[in-house]
Amino acid sequence: MARDSIVILGAGIVGLDVALELSKRGYGKYITVVAEHLPGDEATIDYTSPWAGANFSGISGGDANALRWDRTGYSLMMRLIDTQAEEAKYLAKTESTEYWDEMPASDKIRSMTEYLRDVSIISQRTGKEKLQVTDANSINTQLTILPKKDLPSGVAFGIKFTTVTINAPAHCQHLKTLLSQPKYGSIPFLRRRVSHLQDAFISSKTKLVFNCIGNSAITLSGVSDSKCYPTRGQILLVKAPSVRKNIMRHGAKYETYIIPRPMSDGTVILGGFMQKGNWSPHVVPEESESIVKRTGELLPSLMLDGQMEIIRAAVGLRPSREGGARVEQERISPDRLVVHNYGAGGTGFQAGMGLAVDAVDLAAKTLKGLTQKAML
Ligand SMILES: Cc1cc2nc3c(=O)[nH]c(=O)nc-3n(C[C@H](O)[C@H](O)[C@H](O)COP(=O)(O)OP(=O)(O)OC[C@H]3O[C@@H](n4cnc5c(N)ncnc54)[C@H](O)[C@@H]3O)c2cc1C
Repeated sequence: MARDSIVILGAGIVGLDVALELSKRGYGKYITVVAEHLPGDEATIDYTSPWAGANFSGISGGDANALRWDRTGYSLMMRLIDTQAEEAKYLAKTESTEYWDEMPASDKIRSMTEYLRDVSIISQRTGKEKLQVTDANSINTQLTILPKKDLPSGVAFGIKFTTVTINAPAHCQHLKTLLSQPKYGSIPFLRRRVSHLQDAFISSKTKLVFNCIGNSAITLSGVSDSKCYPTRGQILLVKAPSVRKNIMRHGAKYETYIIPRPMSDGTVILGGFMQKGNWSPHVVPEESESIVKRTGELLPSLMLDGQMEIIRAAVGLRPSREGGARVEQERISPDRLVVHNYGAGGTGFQAGMGLAVDAVDLAAKTLKGLTQKAML
């Protein structure tokens, strides 16, 4: 096997998590990452990962794949933090409260309550019902049900738990630094824009490509996935060192959130918007005002004593896809396999490690074949 036997196309969080998973399984020295934008670059609208909040939340879809990717992502990130792994430097356990104006699907609630830590449910229905925990390995042997008086007006359901918050730009840079080290396989990062998926097979030795190109799945020749679309989000980066907890409210027409950024100097992300199909990279002043108003209502102490300082407003485009992320293999010639991994929408950080496990599992046979050939 050669250094470029495996190419990861894309160096956003989705590609970085695939590199980490492959490295963990012993393939680090056979990988080259190829991407137009790399961690540490000046932020651009074509590179979503540096814009994320980021945290683990109940924002994802309720289908079986999304629930599994979330669960694996949360569990693996928690394990990294628990074991004080190097990869966890910019991850932190943080208390989080989330509110929904409409009741989320029961499958989603059941799944989340099976694995999230320190869960309390706040339900307007009766305030008393017990959710059955079906997973024998569940950490949550006890669920605390809080009274409905704890719900803000207009909210149908709430959940409080220990989440993972992520300093998104620093985490991506840190992963790149780690992956470049011998222990991880000294993975090279090659800055290159490809104009066709086939160009990701950078040499005759390249047999396997992980396609992690985010929003470019819409336009890149050889992919051109018509199910993909951007979901625009505007955020405010503020300084508010007193904020230590996440709070989110999911409404039918809005998404409001407050996420303290770990390992920063008191930076907090305030959001936001989920605008399907909106490609605009421009900051809209009225949207910043709406964010200040909504987050102030969610956490009144944010606005007290002039403690909050707005650093800047920013816009990012979540790489979304009808039906959820595409984690799928495609054999494009007898000796060339592509494993697609794009369309993570608003969940690339929380579900990225789960997506990576599935993507690498899909390539298991090819990986084994490459290793066996190398031993002959
Ligand atoms: C405002 C906002 C808040 C968010 N908050 C959260 C959150 O709290 N939690 C969470 O989990 N997620 C959150 N997200 C979503 C998360 O940011 C995305 O899911 C994630 O960044 C997608 O990563 P990606 O690697 O798929 O794409 P990207 O980060 O866009 O990376 C794509 C990569 O592909 C490369 N590429 C593309 N085309 C080509 C080409 N032709 N040739 C070579 N290279 C190419 C790019 O250069 C780049 O390296 C948020 C997003 C936004 C915008």
